[in-house]
Amino acid sequence: MRRITGTHVYSYVKCPRLAALDLHLSRAERRPPHPWEEFAAQRGRDFEAEYVQGLGAATPRYPERDFDAGFAATRALLVQGAPWIHQGVLLDDDCLGLPDLLRRLPGESALGAHQYEVLDVKTSGRSRADQILQVAFYSELLTKVQGRRPAGGALVLKDGREERFEIGDYAAALREVMAELRRLRDAMDGARPFLQPGCSSCYHDARCMAELERAGDLSLVQGMSHGARAILEGLGCRTVQDLATFHAEGARARGNLDATLVRRLRRGAHAHLVGAPVIEARPRAERFANAAIVHTLTDPFAGRVLAFGVLHPAVEGGAFSCELPRTAAEEWPALHRLTAALPPRTPLLHFGEALPRWYEENAFAREADPALEVRFVDVQKRLRAAAVYPRAVFGLADMVRHALGRDPLRAGHAMAAASWLALPDGDDRLHAKLRADLDDLAALKTRVLDAAPSEVEAASEAEAS
Ligand code: SF4
Repeated sequence: MRRITGTHVYSYVKCPRLAALDLHLSRAERRPPHPWEEFAAQRGRDFEAEYVQGLGAATPRYPERDFDAGFAATRALLVQGAPWIHQGVLLDDDCLGLPDLLRRLPGESALGAHQYEVLDVKTSGRSRADQILQVAFYSELLTKVQGRRPAGGALVLKDGREERFEIGDYAAALREVMAELRRLRDAMDGARPFLQPGCSSCYHDARCMAELERAGDLSLVQGMSHGARAILEGLGCRTVQDLATFHAEGARARGNLDATLVRRLRRGAHAHLVGAPVIEARPRAERFANAAIVHTLTDPFAGRVLAFGVLHPAVEGGAFSCELPRTAAEEWPALHRLTAALPPRTPLLHFGEALPRWYEENAFAREADPALEVRFVDVQKRLRAAAVYPRAVFGLADMVRHALGRDPLRAGHAMAAASWLALPDGDDRLHAKLRADLDDLAALKTRVLDAAPSEVEAASEAEAS
């Protein structure tokens, strides 16, 4: 019987199918990590090593993967009262936990006049439910060893800050997750794949995508939710093909799903079958004919903008300019130099929250120009509203792939940008990536935002009226 680990708890919260596959398949059946994933993982290991270095933590010694020996060595350190234990091993029946850190605290326990609590080191800037439940899982295992449940636990975030929480607050949620994990351990098919944002960075992506496509799964359709999929399947509408021709008279026949939602999902199914976006009919007050597109490449771990690029006019082949700030202090003037070179009041199209969030954070400490901020226009929201895509889309790469039929990674992955800094051709790579993304954004503007409504849309609206 495979033991349930903290990683399974973490995976389950992200995607039950991921936990099911991890419980049943060997590591060899995962795709190998992409270089940028390996880079991020190495950064995580380096950060943990750096954090732990100053603590003087004890580490249990045991033969590789002999977790019974590891547990015995950890238990000995716990009884001795080592102030910090790094990478201890906690075991109980069918569960195995490898917490990053155990910290000694005052208080009677089965170990003596002291007890422990769990800390996990993360490279994220804020805590997430999956990370907290992982600590709650380790804390339950620790409870068995020391005879009392630790009151608290903590995550060490990338700025070194400890985010503390009460373990008891998560006991019920953890019980539920553990029951589900035990069920999935008995039956891998107890959780089906569902296309979601995390799929693109998941090591089971190829397996799940093939399965979803083979089945014509409804989650491929843009706007589909778990609930809507379950209701539609209950009505006998099981595949994208079924959905494309699904016409239900009355609320009961469509499982009380909102009529507008069903129409939009049906358009999504149609878009999937024809392999092209369906452009929606909508008011066309905004044209942005004279706009520029502003794009950034960032290093989320360091909280840095590595490159700003501008395309003006906002068409493929428009004039490209860029700045590569070397330090955080250079970022603000870099953007201002780029925008100052544009005609006054040029709308600044950008994709998503990264640019306005960066601007807001930096404006606090500087003489911000409010006239610049009001020129920001988020095209992500507008692109989402303007079309139904041939597949569920979650970010720029999905839109490029499924609306333009292009490889969004032809100039590299945005998450790899920080790793290019150490390369001799790092600047060239940043330029090429900015240029490719800006051309993609310009093409999306032309082919989606500025395009006429699709005929299928007009027909669908006529049918609805
Ligand atoms: S590819 Fe998606 S559905 Fe499949 S396991 Fe990963 S996150 Fe879950």
